[in-house]
Parts: sequence; structure tokens; C-alpha cells
Amino acid sequence: MKLNASQAWAILEALPDAVFVIDSGGNLVFSTSAASRLLGWEVDAWAGRSVLDLVHPDDLAMVLVSLESVQDKAVGDPIDVRIATSAGEWRYLQVVGAPLVGVEGIEGIVVTARDQTQRRKFEVATDNDERFRALVHHSPVVTMLLDADGVVSSVSGAFARILGHDPERIIGTRLSEWAIPAHRRRLHRTLMEANFAAGTCNVDATLRHRDGERDVPLEFHVVNLLDDPVVAGLVVSAFDVTALREAQASLQHLATHDALTGLANRSLLLERIDDALMRSSEDPVTVFFIDLDRFKPVNDLLGHEAGDRLLTEVAERLRSLTRSADTVARLGGDEFVVVIEGISHADEAQTVARRLEAVVSQPVVLGAGPSQVFASVGFARSDAASSSESLLAEADGAMYLIKAARRGELRRTVVRVSERRNLAEGLRLALDNDELQVHYQPVVDLRTGRVSGVEALVRWLHPEQGLLYPGDFLSIAEEAGLDPEIGAFVLREACRQHHAWTEEHEGLCLTLAVNLSANQLVDPTLPAAVSTVLAEYGTPAEALCLEISERSILERTTRGTARPATASLHALRRLGVKLAVDDFGTGYSSLSHVRRLPVDVLKIDQSFVAGLGRDPSDTSIVQAVIGLAGAMGLTAIAEGVERPEQARTLLELGCHLAQGYLYARALPGDEMGTRLHTRWGAQPAVEAAS
Ligand code: C2E
Ligand code: MG
Ligand code: MG
Repeated sequence: MKLNASQAWAILEALPDAVFVIDSGGNLVFSTSAASRLLGWEVDAWAGRSVLDLVHPDDLAMVLVSLESVQDKAVGDPIDVRIATSAGEWRYLQVVGAPLVGVEGIEGIVVTARDQTQRRKFEVATDNDERFRALVHHSPVVTMLLDADGVVSSVSGAFARILGHDPERIIGTRLSEWAIPAHRRRLHRTLMEANFAAGTCNVDATLRHRDGERDVPLEFHVVNLLDDPVVAGLVVSAFDVTALREAQASLQHLATHDALTGLANRSLLLERIDDALMRSSEDPVTVFFIDLDRFKPVNDLLGHEAGDRLLTEVAERLRSLTRSADTVARLGGDEFVVVIEGISHADEAQTVARRLEAVVSQPVVLGAGPSQVFASVGFARSDAASSSESLLAEADGAMYLIKAARRGELRRTVVRVSERRNLAEGLRLALDNDELQVHYQPVVDLRTGRVSGVEALVRWLHPEQGLLYPGDFLSIAEEAGLDPEIGAFVLREACRQHHAWTEEHEGLCLTLAVNLSANQLVDPTLPAAVSTVLAEYGTPAEALCLEISERSILERTTRGTARPATASLHALRRLGVKLAVDDFGTGYSSLSHVRRLPVDVLKIDQSFVAGLGRDPSDTSIVQAVIGLAGAMGLTAIAEGVERPEQARTLLELGCHLAQGYLYARALPGDEMGTRLHTRWGAQPAVEAAS
């Protein structure tokens, strides 16, 4: 069948594809109406104009190449070209050109164009889909789809990378099963909550790694898309927060620990004491305050590096001496604190204090050779009213008193071992050979200058060495177990002398102070022995004041009796005898410890009195002790007053009684008797003494 022109035209017009005829320069010669349907241009609008103007600039080169080839070949290859519509959008057209051959009156190229926009969009979409999948798969975030019961239906690759498990193994299982036991419930609960929640539910949970050696902390975000027809599930994103948690932990550690030694710092220490106070039911919390005595010279003379090494070594030693439940802290500088729970007796605490002191005092090799530092250790034990701050301050105060007392102690005589052995032998004989004597030092009332009492102090008139003082032989006597015998001798001799003076001086009213040793104090026969001696010389019980050093109250006897020192104190008190805490401030205990003791007098140790009026810290210690004595209804007596300014300061601080070389050294009984008669009957007041 041969078509006529109008038939051919109608067929062309019926084609869904557009048909153009262009000349070799690209100018439009003719187009079917499908072209204007596709592009929105009026059929004639581009007549005589180059269609190349409509081509997307990026596609132009491709089009020109194609036009070139079409002129040579019969039919060109189809190409996808973006062409501008009248609305300014781009449409993808698949175009194929062929040279017009043998058509009368027309020359050029016939081009068919098919709209490919929809297909291209679809292609891009699938391309995006794959890209998206790849993205999720390679993302460091674990992405999972769960059903309403928390069972995993798909999981991204990060799961395997972070946890080592094959993703296939997790599909079909409950997500919560992969958490460590302690976190299973919480993870499951959050997933169940997400079933009903509108927004995102978050939870931290740790999952087990496949290697079984480590756990991985993850932060889970759960979004409920159960109602979304495409997703229909819980979308879970999980982030590995290992590094974050580690960073948080090290920040936390930095904030609560000393950078040099790694020990707890002050803020953590206070927190730990508070925790311990909350826990402590029966046994008090014991806080030990440790201060190095010779740190400054090490730091100054050997340099800061050596100083740092010393502090680190001390920290290590303290740590090795304590259990993991105890807290060891550094407060900065050379101050350390140890907190121990479960020490039921003060004397146990004292033993610990000594051990701490000993462990710190071992030599450390720094620079040229071993250096030795010494520690002063004070402690405080909690009671119902304690707070972390008050306990720490109390322990600090106790340490400070000890440190101050040490300054005095170091000056005392040191006796060599061989000499000690000889002395012990000699002491046994001394008791039989009447070589022991008692000297008396007056206690003066600072307001009147009169003698209010005397303290009996033992002396040994050694056949070869001359007059020996208690510092030379008393510790030897204690080691040899001779101190109760010596004590009994001093008590009897002092009462005899006291009786003799009162006989000589009518109306004389003198307090007689006698020192007791630690072993005497725990001797159950002591109260009866005291009572016998008092009766023998008719000494009124209230005229006798027995002095016990703070240390010996805390110390149990070296010979193992379990009788507490306080039992003796109560028994002596019942006799009517007065009791004094001697050398107050030099023990290991805190001020508050004295509150619990049945005593009448506090004797302020001479090491504190030494700095009175000169050293502000000594002055404030003495002031505190006088204040404490006043608050507890005790009499304070200052020891070791050598200068008038000390006496003046004592009076100003409210302390009325003192003894010391300013008034007299300890004198033999007869000499003392003469002075009582001639001088001290009407001693001028302190102002005159200065
Ligand atoms: P204490 O009981 O604290 O006695 C005070 C000591 O300080 C005495 O030393 C005394 O001589 C000394 N003293 C007094 N005034 C001053 C002063 O102004 N400056 C200085 N630097 N020192 C002063 P002493 O007699 O050597 O006694 C030392 C310690 O021996 C006594 O200290 C006491 O704890 C103990 N003691 C003395 N006699 C006995 C005793 O019979 N039995 C027991 N168990 N201990 C005794
Ligand atoms: Mg004394
Ligand atoms: Mg004393």
C-alpha cells in the first residue's frame, strides 16, 4: 500500500516519540507535535533556530560528536540528552539521528526523541538505594531493625566490626540477649517502652564481644517505626562509646586524684570519709594524718625531681601497708591521709600510726645516697557528731601537736645500746643500794607567785656517772620491768617528804604530783598500793595528783595484760586522788580523746610552751589547749616556763599554774623545804618576776 502525504503525516503525528528534522547546522526545519508536547514549546517557535541552544551544556559535546557521525553513517547510536523545556526544566530524551536521504526539497537529519525522564529517575533512585545501603553498611554506627518483641531482623556491618559477631547470628535473636547479664533487663525494658513511645528512647548498655575478653559499652537510640508501612519495626542505632567512656573515666580520675602519686585527692578523700561515716555502725572511722618531717630540705637541697620521687615512694609504701578498702590520699605538699574502717580500739589505731610512721621513715635512695625523712602521724576517731571535715581537721591537729612535740624530743639524750645494758644491771642494784632519789620542782600560781604544789621527779645518783635524769634511765627501767618498783619507791618517798614538810610548816597546803609509768597504770594492785601509802603518811587523797603521759594511757602494757589503762584511772579516782594528763599534745591521739578520760588536770607539754609569745603556731596551740581544759572543767598547768614573757602570755591566755626553770629546777627535798620556808611563802606575783 502506498501512503499519500496526508496519511504519512497523520502517522508521524500519531507517534508517541517526537520527530525533528534539523539541518546540518542544527537548525530546526520541522517537528511533530509530540515535540511540543514533550518540551512545551509551540511547534513553530523554534523554526529556523538551532536546537543545539536547548541542549544541556554538559551534553553538547556528545551531541556534536553524534551529529558528525550521523552525517557519515546511515543511522547514529541512541544517546540520552538533556533538553530544556519551556518551563526551564531538563528532560531526558533518548535521541537517534539518521541522515535524510532522497526526500525531495529537504536536506538534513531526521531525529526521533523519546522521553526517558521517568526511567532515569528510577535508575537514580535505585542507585541511591544501593548507595544508602552501602552507607549504612559501612557506617560506624550499628543500625538494626527489630520487631515489636525486640527480635533483630536486620543489622548493619558495624555490629560485626564492633562486637566481632557474625551479623547472621544475631538475626532472629533478641537484641537484649547480647548484653552483659547486668544490662539485659534495662535494654529489654527500653525496647519494650519504645513500642509505645512517640520519640526516641535512649539507653546505655554493654554488649559482650565475641572474644569474651572485653565488653563494649554502647549507647542505644530506639525509634518506633512500627506503623511505617515500609519499615514496620523498631529502628535501633547503637554507638560504640568505649573511647568516650574511657575519656570520661580519665577526666573523672584526674578530677579526683593527685597527678603525681595517683592517690586520692582532697575532694575524693572527703567523699570517702563521708561514705565511711555513713557505713560506720559500731567501730569508728579512723583518719590518720601523715606529715613528712624532712621533706623541705630534700626538695630544697636535692631538687624537685628528687622531691617528687620521694613523694611517689612514700605513696607506694603507704599503699602497700594498707588494704584496698582503705583510702590513701595526698593533700598536696608532703601531707598524706589514710582512712581505715574497723579499728575498734584506740591502741590498735596507735599501732597503725606507728607502723605508718615506720614505713615512711625507711631511707629512700635519692641522688647521691639514701635520704631519710621522718613522718609525724596523728589520728582522729569518729564519734556520732563527726563530719569528714571535722575528722580531718582533728587528725591534722593531732599530727601538728606530735610534730611540735618532736622538736623538743629530738633534743633529749640518746644513750647507746652497750651503755643501756650496763645501766639495766646497775638499776637493779640501785634500788637496793639507795641510789635513787626524789627531787621536787615547784608548781607556781602565776597570779600570786606562791607555790601551790610540787612535782616529784626521780633521780639516780650513779656511783660512777653521777646524777642521772629520768631521760637517761627510765626507758631502760621499763624495758627491764623495773619501773613499777621505781614508781612505788618514788610515791612512798614523796608522800614521806610531803608529810615531813607539812609537819615543819604549819598550815602548808601543797599538792604533790607523782608520775606513773605505763606499766604501773595497768597494774591491778596499783590503787590498793596508793591507798596504803596515803594511809601510812596521813596524806589526804586530794593532795596527791598522779600524772600519766598521754602516750601511756593509749599504750597497753608491754607485758601483755589486757587490762585497759582506763580501769585504773577510774579506781584511782574513786580513792579521791587527782589525775593529770602529762605531756599533753605529744601522744598520738586527738584532743577529743581526752574528753573520755576521768582526769582533773592537763599539763601542757614544754615543747609547746617553748615557743610561747614567739612562735605564733605554738601560741595558738597552747591557747587551744587552755581553751579545751577550760571547756572540760580541767586545770591547765604549763610545763617548762623559762622566760618571763612565757609566764605573761600564759596569764593572758587564762592559765594560772606553771612550773619551769624560771622559778626553780627540781631540788632535793631538804633544799626544797628550806625554800618553802624562806622564799615561796610570800613570792611576788608574775609582774615582779619579770
Ligand atoms: P615530766 O613529768 O613532764 O616532768 C617535767 C620535766 O621537765 C622534768 O624533767 C623537769 O626537770 C623538766 N623541766 C622542768 N622545768 C623545765 C624547764 O623550764 N625547761 C626544761 N627544759 N625542762 C624543764 P625530768 O626530771 O628529766 O623528767 C623527765 C620525765 O621523766 C618527766 O617528765 C616524767 O615523764 C618522767 N619522770 C620523772 N620522774 C618520774 C617518776 O618518778 N616516775 C615516772 N614514771 N616518770 C618520771
Ligand atoms: Mg610529770
Ligand atoms: Mg610533762
